[in-house]
Amino acid sequence: MKHISDYNLENKTVLLRADLNVPRNDHGAVSDTTRIDRIKPTIDALKAAKAKIVILSHFGRPKGEADPKFSLNFLPAVLEKQWKTPVSFSEEAIGEKAKSAISSLNPGDIILLENVRFYAGETKNDQAFISQLAELGDIYINDAFSASHRAHASTEGLAKALPSAAGLLMAEELNALSQALEAPEKPVAAIVGGAKVSTKLDVLKNLSAKVDYLILGGGMANTFILAQGGDIGNSLAEADMVDTALEIMEYAKSQNCELVLPTDTIVTEDFKPHAESKIVPINQIPSEMGTMDMGPESCEHVKSIIAKCKTLLWNGPAGVFELKPFDKGTNALAQFAAECTKAGDLVSIAGGGDTVAALENAGVKADFTYVSTAGGAFLEWLEGKDLPGVAALKQQAMAA
Ligand code: AMP
Repeated sequence: MKHISDYNLENKTVLLRADLNVPRNDHGAVSDTTRIDRIKPTIDALKAAKAKIVILSHFGRPKGEADPKFSLNFLPAVLEKQWKTPVSFSEEAIGEKAKSAISSLNPGDIILLENVRFYAGETKNDQAFISQLAELGDIYINDAFSASHRAHASTEGLAKALPSAAGLLMAEELNALSQALEAPEKPVAAIVGGAKVSTKLDVLKNLSAKVDYLILGGGMANTFILAQGGDIGNSLAEADMVDTALEIMEYAKSQNCELVLPTDTIVTEDFKPHAESKIVPINQIPSEMGTMDMGPESCEHVKSIIAKCKTLLWNGPAGVFELKPFDKGTNALAQFAAECTKAGDLVSIAGGGDTVAALENAGVKADFTYVSTAGGAFLEWLEGKDLPGVAALKQQAMAA
């Protein structure tokens, strides 16, 4: 795929697709600027290249029409503060108003357009809408890996309508991810935790064929224990997924992938912080109790596997990390992986909304080799899917 450095951008109008779908607190303030900060290198590169920068992003899920709740008009002030450069705003993402605002830009200037999802053509990847966007610029740059699992006008359609390139964050994400799955240093382990098997079925199947150890944690492991006839008490599990769990176990075996299940667990009667708890074997959970965290014996076993591996992929917490002290297992694994990474013994790559929060909670987010900003896109990549926004950049480069 092409990169920013492949084009002479001087005086050119660049349509930059960013993911500025940032979290806001009850007062409307941006509560986490990670997504804004990760785009800054691309902004700096475009400014240095003397491009006129037009930013496109979605925000929330408006229903294809203008909805003040989802306006991006709060954002220029935040972008200015984080990027330390002026950012103007256009209330329209297409049409005469947008064109006129863009025509007054000088090289290095930045304008943010209104939420692209205010237009029904965005999510429909509609040709007329794509053309209206394409009229606004000379070159399209996609720096929104986290939105590229959607075949939308601003993520997929535009890449085919204009000369296109990957932004620096997009390139960084793709490099890190291919380092983990396409050409990883072996042995490779994956930790898949979180709540449910049903949401991560394809992830489990794809990883079984690619990694040496598939370590299951969190609520997801319960369904596998249930499938093996274990007593899981009132733990979160999906009874209708037991046959699928057995199939995954068989498939992993056929792929020489060792599927690792917890052997002990922390259980409580009450799903709340600081609830009274005890450690029990994972398949002997009293009927009135449920799992909250990975037990110490299992954590030690998982750590011994991480110690043997050169590459670790992680999606999904090992327990209910939001409720203290049931973050202990997740923290222990995260801290161990961070130590191995810092010692130069491990490439550690993590992603997915809750996983990033869990690593932050463990205080080790900065110590992993790479933490993806993408949630859904990271999962689809783990599933082995071609992301439409990425595929379009590749196709466009091959056709050029
Ligand atoms: P996911 O979005 O599938 O990665 O799931 C993340 C959620 O799984 C977090 O909110 C955790 O609290 C939850 N989780 C992890 N372990 C368990 C468990 N043993 N029982 C219930 N929920 C869990």
